[in-house]
Amino acid sequence: MTDHMMVVHFDPVHGWSPPEIQPYGPLAIDPASSCLQYATSVFEGMKVLLALAEIPTLSFTESHMAHTAYAGPDGKPRLFRPDLNMKRMETSVGRVALPSFDTDELLKLIQKLVTIDARWIPTVEGHSLYIRPTIIGTRDSLGVAASDRATLYVILCPTGPFFRTGARPISLLAVNEHVRSWPGGTGAYKLALNYAPTFRPQQHAAKLGYDQCLWLLGDTITEAGAMNFFVAVRRDDGGKEMLMGGGTDVDVITPPLDGTILPGITRASTLELVAAHPSRATLPGLSPDVRLHTVEGELTLPQLSTWAKEGRLLEAFTVGTAVVVAAVGRIGHNGTDIVLPPHEGALGPIARGLYERITDIQEGRFEWEGWS
Ligand code: PMP
Repeated sequence: MTDHMMVVHFDPVHGWSPPEIQPYGPLAIDPASSCLQYATSVFEGMKVLLALAEIPTLSFTESHMAHTAYAGPDGKPRLFRPDLNMKRMETSVGRVALPSFDTDELLKLIQKLVTIDARWIPTVEGHSLYIRPTIIGTRDSLGVAASDRATLYVILCPTGPFFRTGARPISLLAVNEHVRSWPGGTGAYKLALNYAPTFRPQQHAAKLGYDQCLWLLGDTITEAGAMNFFVAVRRDDGGKEMLMGGGTDVDVITPPLDGTILPGITRASTLELVAAHPSRATLPGLSPDVRLHTVEGELTLPQLSTWAKEGRLLEAFTVGTAVVVAAVGRIGHNGTDIVLPPHEGALGPIARGLYERITDIQEGRFEWEGWS
């Protein structure tokens, strides 16, 4: 963790206290606190990167070049669509009846905290400073009721690449004996209580040799680990593409925001960038002859299996703040695996194009819609 944290308290008489940026350290909490007893705990995950430009260095070998550190031409820390994190936090807070807060003011405080601890922002490619805003209910009474007291705090820590798998794709174990979310449940909110029940199934998946769980509701795919899930499927055009003179139509499909899916900011960004290819902005490395179509629609495991058998399942990948985009290599269920086509450097062309475009925007090499 970095040197400082931001802390602000709410009570029903005074409202929010003046915020304080103080040395990082433990919080004093009453053992009866609502967050400890009834899980009134909401958080967000965002990260800050420096505007990066390659420093011209004395390069000796290619492998040396590959590890060149980056530092900003303007040295300015950049947040990626933080307004969306603030909005989502407000929605999550409302779901567990914690006191509401001013999203613009919280963002200003986060910017202030990041500025104070700016020396902690890594300058190595693929690394960033992770920001964890949190709100906990601190009502110190065992009555089962909404918490009328709260503490909002923000902590920061430098992070490296999310999966230590290097350039290999991740494997997913499809799980439906335990469910992460269900209609009318809380899966669409970033509540601490959604995460604890995933740890046991995650341990089980790891024991069987899989990196993460693919969460199902019956046969329907919802999310993967703490990431949103996408597949790229070649359209079955009955050979028309040959007659029309080339090009390929590919559906990029992700489950819809039906209340069982966390509305990921990387998910939303992915959908917008996919929709922009090729007419508004081609994805790096992807041919404009590949026409991408976004689909927010139900995805089932048997459907995936059929597409894989037909050779139309081109890519599966997961997206999220920490990982940006990760390739999925295989999906296990009932002792068999759906195997995705392998790609050099793990990511398939669509996932790679998205990864590069998103990190280009995050690191200030590409301007897009004021996202950075
Ligand atoms: N799903 C879950 C359950 C998550 O915890 C996260 C991480 N916030 C995501 C998806 C990805 O969301 P985002 O792109 O906003 O990080």
